[in-house]
Amino acid sequence: MPIRPVGRVAQQNEESPFLFGITKNDLHFLMKIFYFYSCQNSAMSKLYVVPTPIGNLEDITIRAIRILKEADVVLAEDTRTSSVLLRHHNIDTKMYAYHQFNEHRSLQAIVKRIQLGETMAMISDAGTPGISDAGFLLVRECISEGIEVECLPGPTAFVPALVVSGLPCDRFYFEGFLPHKKGRQTRLTALAQLESTVVLYESPHRLHKTIEQCCGFFGEDRKAAVIRELTKIHEEVIRGTLGELVLSLKDKIVKGEIVIVIEGK
Ligand code: SAM
Repeated sequence: MPIRPVGRVAQQNEESPFLFGITKNDLHFLMKIFYFYSCQNSAMSKLYVVPTPIGNLEDITIRAIRILKEADVVLAEDTRTSSVLLRHHNIDTKMYAYHQFNEHRSLQAIVKRIQLGETMAMISDAGTPGISDAGFLLVRECISEGIEVECLPGPTAFVPALVVSGLPCDRFYFEGFLPHKKGRQTRLTALAQLESTVVLYESPHRLHKTIEQCCGFFGEDRKAAVIRELTKIHEEVIRGTLGELVLSLKDKIVKGEIVIVIEGK
């Protein structure tokens, strides 16, 4: 920026001084520098990862509600599903869809907006984002861009399932969903060798097949538990050996969301 002496008389064709010898153009230039540095430093905001209830809408922390209210944007897996929760807690923050089908292409835009000063709160349909849900890619990208990431503690299905199973929870292995086809047998073979308790997520229509396969790979005497609809009206825990579970589930129609917990070797 050119420095003009105070009181300098403007030449013809030259912009006249606006304030203390500074022209309007100079002022714009200064403002641009200020904006650039504020974006680079203080304006950069952060990403909050916010766990939400896995059924019971009351299972949300006071801080999670405050963060969702204060954030500039809530990144939601399904905005229609999350609007029920947000309405329930009088949160009117605007929501954008962020899920496994658009996470690759929306990543850079989200990161840019955080760098420009917006605070984003990421939620999934239920539980903790990143746990068998989208979230990991955004967290990794933010970290690599030097953006602060904070994950609030809160609901996730595998912790209450593990504890209520009655199986040792001092050491456990969280597998999440087994692959449906390729690699399924390899995973089952590896999991059956683990000494720690194993935790699986499963959908109701695959439950029978998975329990039967686990019985084959882990052995029918291995203790296990099928935990269904945690925190909801029809919450249910079925405990037994894998052999007993195969029999007790045989003609049963099972609905809802399910976690399977299996004793270690
Ligand atoms: N992000 C979630 C978490 O932190 O647990 C998991 C999301 S994953 C897409 C959904 C799976 O989590 C379900 O298929 C089921 O295995 C498990 N799950 C979620 N809510 C549950 C509930 N209320 N009871 C039992 N299992 C549940």
